[in-house]
Amino acid sequence: MARIELDGLAHAYGPRPQQPEDYALRPMTMTWQDGGAYALLGPSGCGKTTLLNIISGLVRPTQGRVLFDGRDVTELPTEARNIAQVFQFPVIYDTMNVHDNLAFPLRNRRIPETEVRRRVGQVAELLELTGDLKNRASGLSADMKQKISLGRGLVRKDVAAILFDEPLTVIDPHLKWQLRSKLKQIHHELKLSLIYVTHDQVEALTFADQVVLMYEGAVVQAGTPQALFEEPEHVFVGYFIGSPGMNLLPCTLAEGAAGLIQIGGASSAPVQLPVAAQHLERARDRGALTLGIRPEFLGCDNAPRPGAVPAVIERVDDLGNYKMATATLGGQTLRAKLPEDAAVVPGAGWLSFPPEKTKLYADSIIVR
Ligand code: ATP
Repeated sequence: MARIELDGLAHAYGPRPQQPEDYALRPMTMTWQDGGAYALLGPSGCGKTTLLNIISGLVRPTQGRVLFDGRDVTELPTEARNIAQVFQFPVIYDTMNVHDNLAFPLRNRRIPETEVRRRVGQVAELLELTGDLKNRASGLSADMKQKISLGRGLVRKDVAAILFDEPLTVIDPHLKWQLRSKLKQIHHELKLSLIYVTHDQVEALTFADQVVLMYEGAVVQAGTPQALFEEPEHVFVGYFIGSPGMNLLPCTLAEGAAGLIQIGGASSAPVQLPVAAQHLERARDRGALTLGIRPEFLGCDNAPRPGAVPAVIERVDDLGNYKMATATLGGQTLRAKLPEDAAVVPGAGWLSFPPEKTKLYADSIIVR
């Protein structure tokens, strides 16, 4: 397995790119550690597949370099990069049985047969395929075939990395859940370097140690699932991660009232929100301001609490194991995720913004 470095990497499919919008992948420099499980996450068209294809050698980048363990592989074709790939749809040999399909990448590299049997046995056990090893692949369901594809990706120990491009798309939702957890377990047991492309945040957050969130061709944040949840560095991270995403409220610094913020335009009453004075000062003249707080951290009550801001609670929905309150403040809608036994009702209400959970963004970037 290898450490992967992306050095000033950028890609444009059209000729002569000039402005940022011309790039499918905007210039990025980052290092992915040997043995890490990385998820490339983002909405359709943000550049995930382009980045994966540059790492695998299917696409030559317009600029920058890809290094595996310090060795420049930018110009090398896929075959010379020593990587395994698992695609959205199964790639297996129907004429072979499950064992021989799993053994194929190893036999292809002339690995001794005793090692082939050991490795196939290990991967089959991890993927719960042991009972199927003698079955012919042609008669198997699409789910099973994709499991075998995953196994073929995981069976080699000598690869620089294993690249997955939305491999669970065709899998039945129940099995998807199982396979996701399995992959995480396999990663820990076999210490593989995995790069996993998905547009599904649940998939990324359950599987990866590090999530690389992309938006419009750029990496907006790379970090642990917890960091992306608790400390979104860009408003897009707040919006995209979480269900529902972060409450994002356009706001301004209140004129003539130091330390106060106005939500919902100059005509609304300025409110004292717990944004540190130095953050407000740093945010000045840095572009449009947005206040962000996750629904999980926003307090919502019918009675006033110290530091709470008056608002209107529009509705409270009981969603089984939690309640979701929808409130308005200065014409903006906010959501608060409350415990299932919360006694909050629609009507006059108060919103509490815990200081350490309330983030300020200037021109979409967090102010620190
Ligand atoms: P999806 O999840 O839909 O596959 P993605 O995040 O993987 O999306 P890419 O497929 O990398 O995104 O596409 C990034 C951008 O590059 C998009 O605007 C896409 O239209 C464009 N693009 C991708 N492949 C090509 C190509 N071969 N030629 C021209 N433009 C392309």
